[in-house]
Amino acid sequence: MPVPPSLTPEQRAQALIKAANSRRARAEIKAKVKTGQMGISDVLILAKTDDPIAKMRVSELLESLPGVGKIRAAAIMERLAISSPRRIQGLGIHQRAELISEFKPINHRGRLLVLSGPGGVGKSTVASRLRAASDNFWVSVSATTRRPRNNEKDGEDYFFLTEEEFENRISKDDFLEWAQFAGARYGTPREGVEKALSEGKNVLLEIDIEGARQVRTHSKEAILVFLEPPSWEDLVSRLEGRGSDTPERRAHRLELAADELAAAKEFDVILVNDRVEKVVKALVSLAT
Ligand code: 5GP
Repeated sequence: MPVPPSLTPEQRAQALIKAANSRRARAEIKAKVKTGQMGISDVLILAKTDDPIAKMRVSELLESLPGVGKIRAAAIMERLAISSPRRIQGLGIHQRAELISEFKPINHRGRLLVLSGPGGVGKSTVASRLRAASDNFWVSVSATTRRPRNNEKDGEDYFFLTEEEFENRISKDDFLEWAQFAGARYGTPREGVEKALSEGKNVLLEIDIEGARQVRTHSKEAILVFLEPPSWEDLVSRLEGRGSDTPERRAHRLELAADELAAAKEFDVILVNDRVEKVVKALVSLAT
């Protein structure tokens, strides 16, 4: 462990005053950022000549931006490979540029959030709760070749297509992504997503992991969220409680789920589905 330098009482007093001044300078700048008087690029420029600002943590700066809470700040930093203790002075050229473009108003385009995770974890419950809770979210309705379950309605829960219809849509490049899951095909119709984003609405896709990977390769703007069960036992009991699946399909889903859980590390944010309201709130805050 490093030994702290032994300071005279006078030096210690001066160091304390210097630290208090630095804190005050940082608080002033953060207050200006919070009220919109200063943008992220203004702070990055100031940090080149102002030592206390250069030493501000990047997380502190991001969290003081309007509408950016701890979760979104951490997600952005992880996506841009900025370690959590990093200070402004330690940012590389590309990281600075990426941070500036992250917060540039892009024609008020909405944000694209992808909610993924193992089958049975409760993504569709979260998606429908979000649809009801937020006017500013458009939840995409996917197309699928699987049969409707009990109360599912065509056009509301899914667009239920035949294999031929699905194939036809693929050939017309109608899907933003599509994947095979447990013997059926699922795809996100591209048009609705593009329209909603261009109208400034935030969009949620509730899709499997393979689909999320495809979105990542095509879209830099997407925020990938992984929904995790509170425990493996919880996931097993959810899948086993699903009376609408055949025993073979349920066994297949459990096998898949074990692999799917390992994919969490590829995502920008991991949310544990212990309370649906908590997850919905976190999604809303990621999009603001
Ligand atoms: P379920 O049959 O239980 O409704 O859905 C099975 C899996 O397909 C779930 O993991 C669900 O998230 C995923 N899924 C639903 N819609 C889409 C989609 O449009 N694309 C992809 N790739 N997966 C989807």
